[in-house]
Amino acid sequence: MIGLVAITGAGKGAAQELANAWPGETILYEGPATQSLSAAFAQCSQVVAFLAAGAVIRIVAPQIKDKRTDPAIVCVDEARRFAVSLLGGHLGGANALAERVADVLGARPIITTASDAVGFTGLDQLGWPIEGDIAGVGRAMLDGESVDFHSEHIWPISALPANVVVTTELTSGVNQVLVTDRLVDPRPGLALLRPPSLVIGVGASRGVSADEVLELIDTVLADAQLSVHSVRHLATIDVKADEVGLIEAAKRRGWALLTYPASALAEVAVPNPSQRVMKEVGTASVAEASALIGGGTLLAGKSRSARDVSMATAAVARHAPRGRLAIIGLGPGARDLLTPRAKEELRRASVVVGLDQYVEQIEDLLRPGTQVFATSLGNEEERARSAILEAKKGYAVALIGSGDAGVYGMASPALEDFDGTFEVVGVPGITAATAAASLLGAPMGHDHCSISLSDLHTPWSVIEGRIRAAATGDFVVSFYNPRSKGRDWQLDSALAILAEHRPASTPVGLVRAVSRSSESVTLTTLAELISIGTAAVDMFTLVLVGSSSSRLVAGRMVTPRGYGWKS
Ligand code: SAH
Repeated sequence: MIGLVAITGAGKGAAQELANAWPGETILYEGPATQSLSAAFAQCSQVVAFLAAGAVIRIVAPQIKDKRTDPAIVCVDEARRFAVSLLGGHLGGANALAERVADVLGARPIITTASDAVGFTGLDQLGWPIEGDIAGVGRAMLDGESVDFHSEHIWPISALPANVVVTTELTSGVNQVLVTDRLVDPRPGLALLRPPSLVIGVGASRGVSADEVLELIDTVLADAQLSVHSVRHLATIDVKADEVGLIEAAKRRGWALLTYPASALAEVAVPNPSQRVMKEVGTASVAEASALIGGGTLLAGKSRSARDVSMATAAVARHAPRGRLAIIGLGPGARDLLTPRAKEELRRASVVVGLDQYVEQIEDLLRPGTQVFATSLGNEEERARSAILEAKKGYAVALIGSGDAGVYGMASPALEDFDGTFEVVGVPGITAATAAASLLGAPMGHDHCSISLSDLHTPWSVIEGRIRAAATGDFVVSFYNPRSKGRDWQLDSALAILAEHRPASTPVGLVRAVSRSSESVTLTTLAELISIGTAAVDMFTLVLVGSSSSRLVAGRMVTPRGYGWKS
């Protein structure tokens, strides 16, 4: 929960605004500052204090313990000009919270963590546990000193700054980051990043306790010289999905508990199969098979806990990383129509692939060190191919497109031959049709469809058939790719077909370059557009033709829903 600590009238007003904006997420603390803030600090994972920074520091100082467990604190001044990330910037999430608070209150977020201020990933921002000489190596990174980054595998992490050099060999010097799930002796100058590489397969008898399960896991990991911080999740057979001890063990460590049916586990080849287990549950292995399923390498075969009444088993497998392909829609152009999620995904990527003009549009948002593959118009297949290739190598790739990347965009060429070997994440964007519609009024209030007039990859006969269907179905139609120098008759032909089925007075909107500096909106009618011709329409235009019930209302194009209460 987010604790909101407010003392003054202005503070209480602002706190209420946050509470309204984030239903179910906040608790209000009122009353004397010392008591409220101390209580919020003890009870909440994040705190927004409407108090002077100095007052907050004095009050919470005795309670501050560890940046991994202390709550995040954001301070907001009386005039709500600034949202200051005061404590727990990265791990606690105060930097992100400051941005959220600033968004709601119209304040400016103040973030002083060095790695955020210069725009690159701090070691603790990768979302992985870190150990070792975090302070020393982190500082070297920020100071621009050369830092060696050694990883046996390519992980889908965000870009690293230029002074961080990926090496294949790790020497014994300083300024080193080692990505490993193995236990390593600490030494000055060495920071350890723990990748989520280990899957623990577990089995248990009924009534096993969480303590027994966790003790066994810790012993197995220690014996195999592996770090508990690299555990990705626990896995077991589905009939154990309700085993309280397993559920509780996973919960205590913040791990997910994945379960598989016996039939799936039975197909996994394991070193220590058991006929007894086979008879009982229908697979010769639970722990080893659930650790290995999906293609892991076994690092520790099945071990058993040695208690009399209950029993747990555990095995550990290492799984290679999978790359990540984020397919991101950038919206129609304006920065404030780019979603926060799209921004976050862009900053998460280490490789960005897209049309050169779209890359330019968001280049300032990318982390320093991001590798950019920008190609010119018409190289869709090449873009899709390089995005897939990099994701297959294991990188975090962002494939970008305008509007929504799935609408006449890059998502389908990228996924047409998808083989499941990397993760795929889609980030929706505001597509041209809805962006244009909002400028026109409410033209899509009833059934509508989109048709691309580009016959480069679709035969005109097919397109024409769809236009006829839209015409007889009386759909509002958004025409994408309406007209270019080389394709100058298709729009006229489409309008003529629609005119056979709807009134001459049907409103038509021509919306060009939505949300860009050259934005223009023209409202006309079907008959007028056909008579003056479509020469003004180009590839930056979206043509929106109303249905037979669309009409002009005080300069706005409206397609009625047909609600009875109007009449
Ligand atoms: N994926 C994009 C569409 C790509 S097809 C989206 O979801 O918006 C390209 C066509 O989209 C253009 O020919 C034009 O018709 C339309 N379009 C894209 N951006 C536009 C904008 N900012 N203003 C008007 N039309 C746009």
